[in-house]
Amino acid sequence: MPHADRDGIKTQSGDRAEMGVSHSGAVYIEPRPAPEGVDVRFFTRLGGVSKTPFDSLNVSRKMGDTAEAVDENLARIRSAMGGYPVAWVDQVAGKDVVEVEAGGFSGVADGLFTSRENLSLAIGVADCAPVALVAGDVVAMVHSGWRGTLAGISGEAARGMVQPSGGAPAAYIGPCIRRCCYEVSQEIADDFAREFGEEVVSGRRLDIAEAIAVDLRRAGVGDIVDTGLCTGCRGDLFFSHRTQKPKTGRNLCVIARPSGGGGT
Ligand SMILES: [Zn+2]
Repeated sequence: MPHADRDGIKTQSGDRAEMGVSHSGAVYIEPRPAPEGVDVRFFTRLGGVSKTPFDSLNVSRKMGDTAEAVDENLARIRSAMGGYPVAWVDQVAGKDVVEVEAGGFSGVADGLFTSRENLSLAIGVADCAPVALVAGDVVAMVHSGWRGTLAGISGEAARGMVQPSGGAPAAYIGPCIRRCCYEVSQEIADDFAREFGEEVVSGRRLDIAEAIAVDLRRAGVGDIVDTGLCTGCRGDLFFSHRTQKPKTGRNLCVIARPSGGGGT
């Protein structure tokens, strides 16, 4: 897919993400390096039509935004991804990952995977970590908040993908709330330290991306690219449930494997 224009952006952890603007106006973050032949796009809040506090590329109808604005935003994102059908799920912070063969509503789950070309898999987030996975011809997108992360959803998704493809998946962790902005209860902090090691917490501050990385490595994932962006620190780019209370929007995160070999 062509890009109208591009600006590299520096993240807190280096140069592992790049910003792009689609012809439809939707602004997204791509991991660097990006997977070959696969489009992974973590859409920002920029380039849509929603009004404050949903300005402007909000994709949730559940927070009070108008259906018209959300529909237009989704159309811009679909266009930015090549116009393919989009599959989505009703996210419940669980650990179920479903295989999908076509666009549309795909059930109650927090992750989707497919071996189909020209099919976009989407999840919505506001602080929770989006995790994209690529293993041969199989691609996945996972919603990993603290509950799903503690339950090991990213590792589950990776294990589920290894069998059909025969190769180790690569993973791409998108913008999410980071240790700098994420204080949890002592009980949750203790649970994470027990499950993933002391290094994923400092006091009650949780490094959810590192916990996900530990989970992914245990599941045999080789390459892990973490975009490093914090949704709490970058309210200019992302919706953040924690730092933009009481109401904010949701960012869409999408993966697709175009038959033409990807847009990058
Ligand atoms: Zn932060």
